[in-house]
Amino acid sequence: MKYILAVLLYLSLPIMVFSAEPSPIKGPLKQGGYYVGHVERGDKVTFQGETIKLSDDGTFVIGLGWKYKKQANIRVDHKAGGYTMYHLAVISHDYQTQEITGLPPKYVSPPQDVQERITRDAMAVRKARAIDSDLQNFREKIIWPVKGRISGRFGSHRILNGEPRSPHTGLDIAPGAGAIIVAPLGGRVTLVSDQYFTGNTLIIDHGHGLSSVYAHMQKTLVKEGQVLKQGDQIGIVGMTGRATGPHLHWGINWYCERLNAGIALDIE
Ligand SMILES: [Zn+2]
Repeated sequence: MKYILAVLLYLSLPIMVFSAEPSPIKGPLKQGGYYVGHVERGDKVTFQGETIKLSDDGTFVIGLGWKYKKQANIRVDHKAGGYTMYHLAVISHDYQTQEITGLPPKYVSPPQDVQERITRDAMAVRKARAIDSDLQNFREKIIWPVKGRISGRFGSHRILNGEPRSPHTGLDIAPGAGAIIVAPLGGRVTLVSDQYFTGNTLIIDHGHGLSSVYAHMQKTLVKEGQVLKQGDQIGIVGMTGRATGPHLHWGINWYCERLNAGIALDIE
């Protein structure tokens, strides 16, 4: 009985920290969000069985996948000896269904002769997202890349021309064609590519596995390898690739995990 009570108590507490020490990450944590944390210099942080990259001053970033479980477990091994486990509650997200019609059929069921290109495109994106640099721009407070109507939300289940397809991996912002897109965080351009589905596409590395992607642009204003400050102009809104109207498709990644830019902006 005592055990059951203990379990019930455990499940009912929103945040359980088995320590008097403050959590290295400030909540509330949400599915699809990324969070910057701090530990003592020289500590070691383990999350999802992996050692997390730390800056010299003990700063790190983690991302929670779009269907992340209800609790995130973070272990901190202290330089001084011993360790602390943090069990942090994760708020789940309700994802919507979005129906899009009027797409050219070649973008819903691509013809055989473009399969190779699609595979090549995906490999280039995967490679850029895997970059694990020491850049520190992930610490900056994120800004909108462009302001406009939200025309598509992250994680929505998509039905394209009546056919179910994989969920939407970005936030769509529709300010009108020709609007200037700026870097929401500083970083380094790691990919500039004309892709079958996403049209003119750009990826920026912000350090420690955090990157962002911009798609369907009419034009890219930067080159691969270019170092950017937050707010620098990077592209122009358009509708290249699979799009029914001009908009920016904006995605955030933590390594291979796709995150919700709406949560980063605090609008979801
Ligand atoms: Zn999109």
